[in-house]
Amino acid sequence: MNKKRTTLHEKKGVSQPETTNKLSAEKIKNKRNKHNSVDEFVSKILEGNIPFLSRAITLVESTNSIHQEKANQILERCLPHANNSVRIGITGVPGVGKSTFIETFGKRLTSQGKKVAVLAIDPSSSIHKGSILGDKTRMEELVTDKNAFIRPSPSGTSLGGVAQKTRESIMLCEAAGFDTIIIETVGVGQSETVVHSMVDFFLLLKIAGAGDELQGIKRGIIEMADAIVINKADGENEKNADIAKVAFNSALHLYPLKESKWQPQVLTASALKNKGMEAIDQMIANYVSLTKQTTFFQQKRDQQNTFWLLSSIEQQLKDNFYQNPSIKKALAKELKKLENAQTTPFSAAKRLLDL
Ligand code: GDP
Repeated sequence: MNKKRTTLHEKKGVSQPETTNKLSAEKIKNKRNKHNSVDEFVSKILEGNIPFLSRAITLVESTNSIHQEKANQILERCLPHANNSVRIGITGVPGVGKSTFIETFGKRLTSQGKKVAVLAIDPSSSIHKGSILGDKTRMEELVTDKNAFIRPSPSGTSLGGVAQKTRESIMLCEAAGFDTIIIETVGVGQSETVVHSMVDFFLLLKIAGAGDELQGIKRGIIEMADAIVINKADGENEKNADIAKVAFNSALHLYPLKESKWQPQVLTASALKNKGMEAIDQMIANYVSLTKQTTFFQQKRDQQNTFWLLSSIEQQLKDNFYQNPSIKKALAKELKKLENAQTTPFSAAKRLLDL
């Protein structure tokens, strides 16, 4: 697997020379972000200015409260201009061909004049936020395409936190005129569910196995998928891919028709050989047209907005709680007591919450 080319993996970037004063570098960065007013940010983003879009996303991802406040103001002003897009989620195990697929499919879209933003959710991302060096090495062709914008996964301690930042970045990309938003994730923990809750169309990438296609698929993924694309259907693998297609198709027909009235589809493709892309493009267009006719498209986005409002409240409450210094101290004490069998988890939790 060529890790360098996926949005889910960041290059660490070069280390800072000893002589560089990190504090002053941070000050310069803060100053730069301070210098541009919210008005400037908003008007530049609406013009589709990529450096300003990137910097606004950096503000969204920042843990600095001044940056966050500024990010919120920018977001509110951009919101009326966001929403006009198709959001596509792509998941699959490492090596299945996600980045190759996004590059091939993305290039197809940009050649049609579409503007494609690629964001990622990596629940295990602990490396420092997207270094510019890292940006340059992934999806080599798409990255140089003026109609494409690629941003690696924000870092964060919790999936909820990472997801919220991605949600906000989607809005900024849409305000900047990106009409196709691709969110990439690997199937770690709840990351698929999280991506599913922020996209219109959810695509599961698979490769053909040895007739055991349905094994090892996490429960719930098949129900979430609007399409399963069996990638690497080229050369000797083509026959296996066709067999897998039949197996997935019969599995999908066991599920009741979705609320969207959309019957999930199984397609084969080769991202490497640029095969099957037209059918995938057409399928997504059909989905959008069907769900817009039935108004399901907007209903789903409304439901997602409600969900995100409630989950940001939860997130905020949790963060405030765990970041509170007296809670931190008390929590450590309670954990010690718990370890020594001096208390129960429930009474410890009650004492902490009462604090
Ligand atoms: P990711 O980890 O899911 O992002 O997978 P990558 O896109 O990095 O692909 C993993 C490997 O599979 C790379 O060596 C790709 O060249 C290869 N690959 C991706 N798509 C195809 C395909 O359609 N056919 C073949 N034969 N190889 C592919």
